[in-house]
Amino acid sequence: MKPVISAKDIEALLAHGGDVRGLPTDAILTPSAKDLLRDLARRGHGVADGSANSDSLATATAPPAKPLSSRSPKAEIDDFFNSAYGRNLKEQICDVGRRLWQRAYVDGNGGNIAIRVGENIALCTPTLVSKGFMKPEDMCLVDFEGNQFCGARNRTSEILMHLQIMKRQPRAVATVHCHPPYSTGFAVAGMVPPTCMIPEYEVFASVGVAPYRTPGTPEMGKLVADLTDKHNTILMANHGVVSWSHNNVEDAYFKVEILEAYCRTILVTAQLGVPPKTMTPAQLQDLLQIKQSLGIPDPRHGLKECELCDNEEWRPGVTCAISPKAEPAVGFDPEAEAAVQAITDQIMAKLI
Ligand SMILES: [Zn+2]
Repeated sequence: MKPVISAKDIEALLAHGGDVRGLPTDAILTPSAKDLLRDLARRGHGVADGSANSDSLATATAPPAKPLSSRSPKAEIDDFFNSAYGRNLKEQICDVGRRLWQRAYVDGNGGNIAIRVGENIALCTPTLVSKGFMKPEDMCLVDFEGNQFCGARNRTSEILMHLQIMKRQPRAVATVHCHPPYSTGFAVAGMVPPTCMIPEYEVFASVGVAPYRTPGTPEMGKLVADLTDKHNTILMANHGVVSWSHNNVEDAYFKVEILEAYCRTILVTAQLGVPPKTMTPAQLQDLLQIKQSLGIPDPRHGLKECELCDNEEWRPGVTCAISPKAEPAVGFDPEAEAAVQAITDQIMAKLI
């Protein structure tokens, strides 16, 4: 069987010091792999004639040597926007958009994605395009005030919120906003999901709720940005979710995926008619230590163990670990149960 090679495979090869001349000649190249090789060749890296130099190719897929900002000469910004490196970031945005749409996390033209590419500039999605069907050519480049520098389409109006997160949070390299139904259900209820139930959620997501404001307004962006010191995933009341990552755009997407799976799972748990079993505060503390070592913020870092699993807001049977005495399950009244038993006994006695 012929091997299939994608743009990601080529980038991984170059990142590890490999040489594209070593690619199997009978390999099937994906369209993005062909685009990447063509782009590298066009930029004078000699791929097409087989005289490629792996060092120069690696440079073509690396960030610009001189960090970019809104003050950079327009030619430098354009060069970046049209580079193989820039194209790779645009493809990453398209890939995340496709995953958002395929998992029904976006509807209509909803949702938007951004990647920081310099001190105060970012690549972002355009307005009026389904996130499931974007092409790299659709992407826009804006400064942190939302002024558009590059791209044939107009930038999304919700970009201001992403930019306010990046301004407020220098570690934020990527942001993802979408409307996944289970998480948005919690956002409409204005409720942070209960905790201490599933390890992945505890380690990778730190969820807060921002009050409702009109989408796209600076006020909305500020309320979200205010939460980013302690949270990487924010439920926007009556709207949806926005996440940020200090790693990359896929990692920002993962926050949403983890939150959505979690909200879905605990809603199933809530319907099973038994109080959920939660992990102990000591077990959660172990997870928070891992979280801290990964550089992921959480408002519970540094709290005492007894404060860690407080699920007061969550009613279906979860009890707060601060009180060691378990609350009786909802609907269970020992006195009423005894009365029912006595009446049943009397009826049974008469029947016999
Ligand atoms: Zn939205």
